[in-house]
Amino acid sequence: NAGSNATKGRAADELFGGLLAPGMDRWSCRSRYQSSWYYKHFPYTPSPHLLRKLRTYEARHRRCGPGTPLYAKSVEQLKSGRSVEGMECSYIVWLPFEGLGNRMLSMVSGFLYALLTDRVLLVAMPPDSADLFCEPFPGTTWLLPLEDFPVANLFGLGPSPDISYTSLLNNKKIVVDGGDPANNATAAVAAPPVPSYVYVSLGWQMTDGPFFCGEHQLALGQVNWLLLYSDLYFVPSLYPIAEFQDELRRLFPSKESASHLLLRYLIHPANTVWGLVTRYYHSYLAPATKRIGVQIRMFGHSSIPVDDMYNQILACSRQEHNILPETDDDEAATTVTVTSDGGGSGNNGSTAILIASLYGDYYERLRSRYYEHAAKDGGGWVGVFQPTHDERQATENLAHNQKALAEIYLLSFSEELMTSGLSTFGYVSSSLAGVRPTILLTAFDHKVPETPCRRAVSMEPCNLTPPRGVECRGKAAVDGEDLAAHVEVCEDFHDGVKLF
Ligand code: GDP
Repeated sequence: NAGSNATKGRAADELFGGLLAPGMDRWSCRSRYQSSWYYKHFPYTPSPHLLRKLRTYEARHRRCGPGTPLYAKSVEQLKSGRSVEGMECSYIVWLPFEGLGNRMLSMVSGFLYALLTDRVLLVAMPPDSADLFCEPFPGTTWLLPLEDFPVANLFGLGPSPDISYTSLLNNKKIVVDGGDPANNATAAVAAPPVPSYVYVSLGWQMTDGPFFCGEHQLALGQVNWLLLYSDLYFVPSLYPIAEFQDELRRLFPSKESASHLLLRYLIHPANTVWGLVTRYYHSYLAPATKRIGVQIRMFGHSSIPVDDMYNQILACSRQEHNILPETDDDEAATTVTVTSDGGGSGNNGSTAILIASLYGDYYERLRSRYYEHAAKDGGGWVGVFQPTHDERQATENLAHNQKALAEIYLLSFSEELMTSGLSTFGYVSSSLAGVRPTILLTAFDHKVPETPCRRAVSMEPCNLTPPRGVECRGKAAVDGEDLAAHVEVCEDFHDGVKLF
């Protein structure tokens, strides 16, 4: 009957067309079932192949996850110091590095890698992130049990420990193509004994660039445990690896949908964070007919005075056909109609501008702008809102991170986004939103950029550090051909690449 069809339709929608598995408890993770009510855009439905792959993954995670006999067996094998062939389960352990945006991007990259290589993703969650995210996989846990994990000092190993992949290559602890890491012209074979685990350091230092070569993937395929240390969205660098190409094409027929679907699948704010998000949204943003998110990130290396940044925001808005409503200095020209109950709006409804920034200055300026001037041409009422301005990044503080995550989600519920170049905080918001943002360009060397901003070619994050200078089977890991076929140079960073 129509009623049950409607219910079915809604159930399908709230799970994003089957992206999320049904049957999880609604109340232990409210965001998982409610976020679909808030997003304004649904640009991509997941491919049937992605859905199959996710369900297979979930079954594997239940079989191999912490608390299972197979997990106990794998930990014993890890203690033994050697990888063995024929183990049913192999793992990739995500380690935290840098701020929240960076972490979410390396998490989804690690998860896609787990999908591609039949591994199980476990996360080593530090106390600063203890109550941020829900469990994403039904009937199991993704949390690495830290107390009995045999590798010491997990959170303090840094970018190039002795156990990093290249250190092991250099010390011939792992052998690719007969032992000479420089000579990897043909198919690779790792000679026994294969270490029980390898640390892959894929952060901005890019210690282990060879990871992105097919021959090294063959060698790493024999290692039962990988420890992933990264602050990057490294998905674009998986595309040129021949062994992954077909699968990636089937998983994401539109490359641009990769981060969008992976983030919506994997990341769900915990109830505490969801409370912040929904209270703020209903109090300040819901009443407007349109929401515009503006994310302003000021990095030390490219800082400029507040007035210059504010002018850049306004110039960007004008360049992009008035993302922010223009104002009219002539009060009489305002066309807002007010009804007898005091309500009213312009011809174009009302706008809520949500500011996310560590500082209060841009909020103050924009709020004054719309207090002192009416919006032009029936632009209606304009409200300006900013949930927090903590002044400094405090990644070690759980309450700070909860608010940062809440703001990422509030941004992602916007119809339109203006974000800051080079900022993973902004990248994650855009991908979650399913919006191609307008990106404010960075003031390299503290010089205000001539072009204030660019419209992004896709909602995909930029991989800020692709493995440049790395040779794979005698060919560069990042070469012109791949650039043309899979990725483009990022709008905001000429050394970075992104899917489009
Ligand atoms: P990125 O440094 O811009 O790439 O983004 P990250 O999220 O990785 O790191 C920046 C961190 O600084 C965030 O995780 C927050 O802790 C903090 N931060 C930066 N911008 C904001 C903001 O607009 N709002 C809040 N609440 N925190 C922010």
